[in-house]
Amino acid sequence: MQALTTLGAAIGHLFYPHVCAGCGSDKLGQDTALCWYCLDELPLTGFVDQRDNPAEKILKGRLPFDAVHAGFYLSRDSLMEDLIYQFKYKRQIALGEQLGLLLGEQLKESSRFEPEALVPVPLHPKKLRQRGYNQATIIAKGIAKIIQVPIIEQVLIRKNFSGSQTLLSRMGRWENSRSLFCIENPHRLRNKRVLLIDDVLTTGATLESCGLQLAAIPGVSVSMATACISSL
Ligand SMILES: [Zn+2]
Repeated sequence: MQALTTLGAAIGHLFYPHVCAGCGSDKLGQDTALCWYCLDELPLTGFVDQRDNPAEKILKGRLPFDAVHAGFYLSRDSLMEDLIYQFKYKRQIALGEQLGLLLGEQLKESSRFEPEALVPVPLHPKKLRQRGYNQATIIAKGIAKIIQVPIIEQVLIRKNFSGSQTLLSRMGRWENSRSLFCIENPHRLRNKRVLLIDDVLTTGATLESCGLQLAAIPGVSVSMATACISSL
C-alpha cells in the first residue's frame, strides 16, 4: 500500500511538478508550497505580542482597535515580494493559504488575539471576477484552520459603484457615503471580537475604512491582522 501511494505520488509529480514557490526546489513535502529553506528565510516581524508595534502605530488614532499584527516584512526585491506577487497575480492559492496557516500559528500563541469571527477585507466584485478569488479570504481560510474561528463574509461589503442607487440605498442606515465599504446583516457580528484580515498593510487606509464600519456595529471590538507589512 505504501509502495502504491509512493508510486501514485511519483506519477502525480510527473504530470504536476510540485516545486517550491520560493526557489523552485523539488525537495519539499506534499502539503507545503515552500521548502524548509524558504520557510526559514521568511522575515518574521515578531509583532504579535508587541504592544505599540509598527503596525499598531500606523493605525493608532485612526480607529478604535484592540490589537494589530502583521506576520512578515515585505521589502523590495525580496523573497516575500515574489511570493505575494505569485499569490495575487499567478493563482498560487496554496501559497496564500500557507501564509494564512503561518499567520494563524503566530496568532494562536498570543493572548492579545482571541477573535470570535474572521472578516476578510472584501475585494471589488469586478476584481473578484477577474482574479477568481479574494486573497484576504484565502489567508483567512489558513488562519481559520489553525484557530478554529468562523469566517464571516456577509457583513462587511465593498460597495459596487456600478450597481444601482436603489440597491445602495437599500443597504440602509449602515451605509457611510464616504466609505468604499458598508455593513449588511450587522446582527451576525454583534457583540463579537472581530479579526479583520488583509494581505498587506501599507498606508492602513483600507483597514481604517473597513475597521470603522465594523466598529460601528454595537458591541463589536476590532483587531486586525495582515500577512505582511510593507516597506516598499
Ligand atoms: Zn524554496
